[in-house]
Amino acid sequence: MSKMNPRDDRYDPQAVEVKWQRRWDERRTNAADLTKAKRPYFNLMMFPYPSAEGLHVGNVFAFVGSDVHGRFRRLQGRDVFEPIGFDAFGIHSENYALKVNTHPAQLIPQNINRFRVQLKRIGLMFDWDHEVQTTDPGYYRWTQWIFLKLFEAGLAVKKKAPVNWCPECKTVLANEQVINGMCERHPDTPVEQRFLEQWFFRITEYAERLLENLKTIDWSESTRLMQTNWIGRSEGAELVFQTEGGIPIRVFTTRPDTIFGATYMVLAPEHPLVERLTVPEQRSAVHAYRQQAAAMDIVSRRIGEKEKTGVFTGAYCVNPATGERIPVWIADYVLMEYGTGAIMAVPGHDERDWQFATRFALEIRPVVQPDEGAEPDVPSTEGVPPLFTGWNGTMLNSAQFDGMPCRDAATAITAWLEQREAGTRKVQYRLHDWCISRQRYWGPPIPVIYCDACGTVPVPERDLPVILPPLEDFRPDESGVSPLARAKEWYRVPCPTCGAEARRETDVSDTFLDSAWYFLRYPSTDFDDQPFDAALTRKWLPVDSYIGGNEHAVLHLMYARFITMALHDLGHLGFEEPFTRFRAHGMIVKDGAKMSKSRGNVVIPDEYITQWGADTFRMYLMFLGPYQEGGDFRDEGISGIRRFLDKVWGLVNVATFEGGEIAAPTMRKLHQTISGVAEDLEELRYNTAIAKLMEYVNVLRGRGTDDAAVPDLCTELLEPLVIMLAPLAPHFAEECWERLGHDTSVFAASWPAFDPALAAEEEIELVVQVNGRVRGRVSVPVGIEQADAVARALEVEAVRKFVEGKPLRKTIYVENRLVNLVV
Ligand SMILES: [Zn+2]
Ligand SMILES: [Zn+2]
Repeated sequence: MSKMNPRDDRYDPQAVEVKWQRRWDERRTNAADLTKAKRPYFNLMMFPYPSAEGLHVGNVFAFVGSDVHGRFRRLQGRDVFEPIGFDAFGIHSENYALKVNTHPAQLIPQNINRFRVQLKRIGLMFDWDHEVQTTDPGYYRWTQWIFLKLFEAGLAVKKKAPVNWCPECKTVLANEQVINGMCERHPDTPVEQRFLEQWFFRITEYAERLLENLKTIDWSESTRLMQTNWIGRSEGAELVFQTEGGIPIRVFTTRPDTIFGATYMVLAPEHPLVERLTVPEQRSAVHAYRQQAAAMDIVSRRIGEKEKTGVFTGAYCVNPATGERIPVWIADYVLMEYGTGAIMAVPGHDERDWQFATRFALEIRPVVQPDEGAEPDVPSTEGVPPLFTGWNGTMLNSAQFDGMPCRDAATAITAWLEQREAGTRKVQYRLHDWCISRQRYWGPPIPVIYCDACGTVPVPERDLPVILPPLEDFRPDESGVSPLARAKEWYRVPCPTCGAEARRETDVSDTFLDSAWYFLRYPSTDFDDQPFDAALTRKWLPVDSYIGGNEHAVLHLMYARFITMALHDLGHLGFEEPFTRFRAHGMIVKDGAKMSKSRGNVVIPDEYITQWGADTFRMYLMFLGPYQEGGDFRDEGISGIRRFLDKVWGLVNVATFEGGEIAAPTMRKLHQTISGVAEDLEELRYNTAIAKLMEYVNVLRGRGTDDAAVPDLCTELLEPLVIMLAPLAPHFAEECWERLGHDTSVFAASWPAFDPALAAEEEIELVVQVNGRVRGRVSVPVGIEQADAVARALEVEAVRKFVEGKPLRKTIYVENRLVNLVV
């Protein structure tokens, strides 16, 4: 028995981490061979926005969890490509630049450098040769190219639309960026509605496919649910009501069965027919109301919990089912952007219509009789008819449809109206077109030129990129026109078609467009003349694993799917879903509270890494709780992880290289650990994987650590431990691996082989007695606890008949021998 390299030095994380980070760089350990890889595995994480504050612990938590997965796959024999980049355009960077009065073009590279240093310290397996920066003209050239492709296909259109406008940001906001009527970046600034010309991507054309494909992709259930709700598919009918002047007004309803109860109609204040329909004596009231509505943001109108308001236009239309004339109102609870911007109001069976009708004393006519046992939402009081919104009822006051169940009536009434050319079946989506234009400076210019003679002319592909002009004063203003209009020389440009003097589009595109395709670029960063090389893309995409936060469930993740689908349809990609597997990670809090600057409880990753080392910090983050749920960061917990690594260090440094006979229980524990840890890592249950490794180490330590001659501490037991630890604590594992006599990286090793026979619990036969007489035998694992032994004994058929129906007085258990049941 020989003992090589006796070492008694202590574990020094700083020394170990610096050494291995340098060696990884020198030996290009983390650079995947993209062309030669045999079993490619694209391990993606959400690239960060390089803020001035540096890396947030939330980023670190997300990245480490993804890195553990990538390293685990690598040990399983995959050629893992783990790239990173920076999402550096956008209003966050620009606002910060304004605040500190430094140009973003100067600020962003500084921030990126700082991020790079931080990211390297954490020991992530990034392939830095393929870094992407969205602000690089070599990158945004292709962002603009994507715009051109969508424009050619008719999927990028300019249209006038009501949009959310933040007077502080001085730009449009997506609906998701409006929180309780306020700007997400300016919680005290109410968002206004403006009617502006904007560029839109027609994502709504893809609504059905975006929804349908959710059934087949392997994504976190929570994320799929959020996307499903966001797409918001509803089935119903589009019905046509004629005004007395013969103007058709279309409405969408999910309840065509209730049309006999439609006692009035409501248009959105912005509805284009309002002007035409309003009678002279109502004009000033309607005008005032429309102005009031225009000042409100769409989101708070959509939530619609406030008291209902509205104005009568003085016009009437005809209910196509009853033939009755019903009044036409306008009200802000009806949105132009949803459906047709008009509704048939059925106050007996729709909550908002009921509130509105109650307020303005409009007729409420019940047309659904609730089934036996079904309760109305609001019972009838003081002559006001009840509100019932359920489907579980039958028709009344509905002519020939009386007595029919609601669902049948919905089909029958739609068919009847279809015959009379007053309606058609229709599917409606909540999803809106994606507004991609921003009236700001820090983004890729939208590659379009306006010519008085030729109209809207796309910039020819050979002229890409349209470089963002350097502009000293890049502040946005009230006008709603982008600061780029002030770059006079840049703004005036000859028309690519006729050569006459023309003007550039001055809006830049949304940052979500930059991030909607970055994963396509990673493998192809070496190619200047195309966005993504066909062979590399075929080999590496779609992405095998994507891990990120659910706050991106409905924006980034939806847009990336849409862009991929569109590029697929246009013949540029061979797949239509970008991310085969997506997992949402959880959130971490500090001492039970959400981290925030104002609370002063923000965990600064650098401080912890300096104090404890990256490996301890990584493992502690992964030990906080189930990765997909998150956990609570407490300073006192981190030392436990460090003690664990110290123990492993101790074991490795007294290891012997030739084991004697390894005891069966130790071997069993090893193989149970191999299989358990692999299962946990597979499912991102990092916390329980770590717990299993700790148990295994305790078993090894129970067999002595003080003497090198202890046969149980042979490399046969320690090497698998080091490999299993490697995804979690990579520098530490490399150092241990070297100390166990290897001169190649631990990541060149294979995940330890699992032998189910060795893992199986040893079984013995237990004699089962009832009142002292042998009634049967049962096979149980060695050393089973008394309660488990009794439970197993009671399962034996031959035993059951002697104990059934009799209370168990007491049980006697002789370990590994017998169990006696006294009844
Ligand atoms: Zn704002
Ligand atoms: Zn022209």
